Parts: sequence; structure tokens; C-alpha cells
Amino acid sequence: MNYDVRDGGPSLLSRAWPSGIRNIARRFGILHIVHISNGRLFFRIILISSATALLVWAPLFLSSAKSPQQPASGAAVIVQQSGSPITTPPYPTIPAPAPQRTGLNIVVIDPAHGGTDPGARGAQGIRESDLVLDLTVQVRRALEAQGFQVLQTRSGNENPSFDDRSTLANAQRGAVFVTLHIASTGLPGTARVYTMPESAATVPTGGVLSWDHAQAPYVTLSRKFGDAVQGQLAQRFKGSPNNAQSAAIRQLRTTGAPAIAVEICSVSVQDRGDLDRMMPGVADAIARGLATFRPSYVLPGEPGSQP
Ligand SMILES: [Zn+2]
Repeated sequence: MNYDVRDGGPSLLSRAWPSGIRNIARRFGILHIVHISNGRLFFRIILISSATALLVWAPLFLSSAKSPQQPASGAAVIVQQSGSPITTPPYPTIPAPAPQRTGLNIVVIDPAHGGTDPGARGAQGIRESDLVLDLTVQVRRALEAQGFQVLQTRSGNENPSFDDRSTLANAQRGAVFVTLHIASTGLPGTARVYTMPESAATVPTGGVLSWDHAQAPYVTLSRKFGDAVQGQLAQRFKGSPNNAQSAAIRQLRTTGAPAIAVEICSVSVQDRGDLDRMMPGVADAIARGLATFRPSYVLPGEPGSQP
């Protein structure tokens, strides 16, 4: 599933809007609404073709979002309709999934770098930004085989911002985030997992968690997740550490979900085939580590979670 973090996302739920709204939407052509609840409420409406219509209809959608038909909380609710005329009744609907109070459902994979940022560069024109895309394909396959839903921060040679990438993860409920890198240093043939240091869990309290401290409530969970994956990597790649390392990583800091960085060593290999051959093992290690971690996953603020 392609996902452009700048334009919203995949349609997870289509609703049957009242016929009056459908008629208006048909006249204006494109209607695109994103309503996401993740402990906090985000609301974004993009109505192309008419700024006036945006003003007129935004309050209606806001009130509609409060209706009891919406899941009380939980999974992202994304309504998207674009381009072609909206059909007359029966308008196709997908039943709202039962709210998942707990449980890990979604994995956001982040192939780091991209676009004008090639990341680390090695012999034979090896570019980190290309390699992590190839790795993503394999990780995705391994995760989907385990029944996880996978979203990607990029699927081509784009370069979303750190915030764009975090936004995709922060818009989900029941998600983990995995950013993928190829190191420029380190022992070739090994792989390391990084999570934010424990100190990142301490934030000034003021009732509101700033974007910059989004990782704070998840530091302990991230460490558990990281250790589970690192343990799997250590079994497959001799010389890899047994436990996840701590590092203040920009991409993890703004991510409000258990989040890890996985790094393969390294672009310094003479033959990129050495890295390609590691990829299935890395993908399998991530999928198995996640399956091990899954029972520990309880969202902060929910029954069973740590205060
Ligand atoms: Zn990198």
C-alpha cells in the first residue's frame, strides 16, 4: 500500500455520507478528510476545488466525527474520496473495525534517507537510500507473513522530513516504528538496533506532551522491542551485540510509538551482494523479534500499562 505522508493516507474506512453531502462532494470533485485519534485528536480537511466549500462543510464533518457511529477511540479513521463521481446508494461501505484497545497491529517501516539525501555511500556506487528500500521490501514480506499490517514512510526515492515520517506512525494506534539504515562504519556482516536512551523518558510535565518528546512514554517499550530484535540478529550475524544500544536518534525522538532503528554494517563492503545476502536474515529477525515483543505491547495509559 502506498502512503504519501504529505497527502494523508490509505482509506481505512469509508463512510456512507448523507446524500446531500454526497451531492455536494460530487459537484466539487475531490474530498479528502483525515480524522485521526491517538489519545489526542488530529483533524485535517483538504477540499480541493473550492475554498468556500471547505468553510461551509468543515463544521459538518467535525460534528459528524463526534457521532456515536465513529469508533470511540482507537484506530485511525480516514475517509478519502477522490476524482470520480461518487456513486448513488448503496454507497459502498466498509464496516468500522472494532476498536482495538490494546494490541500491536501496524508496523510503520521507514526506509531512511531518499531523494536528495543518499545516506551513506560506499564502493561501487552503493547508496544507503537504495539499499534500505530493498531491505524494506523484505522486511515487509516477513511482517505480513506474521499477520501485521505494514505502512511505509516512502516506497520510492522520495525524502520525507523526519516529522513527516513520525507523523505517519503517530497517526496510528497499535503501531510500532522501525527505521532502517545501512551504517557507514562498523564490523561488516553485523547488525545493530538502537533505541532512545532512558533519559529521553524524563520530560517536563505540563499535561501536554510536545511533539519533540513524543517518544518519552515509549522508551521502555522501545527498549524491550529493540532487545527482542537484537537478540534475533545476534543469533544470525556473529559479532552483533546481544542487546539494543542507546542513542539519541532524531527520527525516534518525535515518534509516539515503540520505535527502533536497525542498522546493517556496512556500506564499506566491496561487494553489495554481501549486504543483499544479509537482508532476508535481518527481515526475519525483525519479524521474529516483533512477534516475541508483541505480548508486552500495552499502550501507555491503558489497563495493564505502567504508570
Ligand atoms: Zn542512515
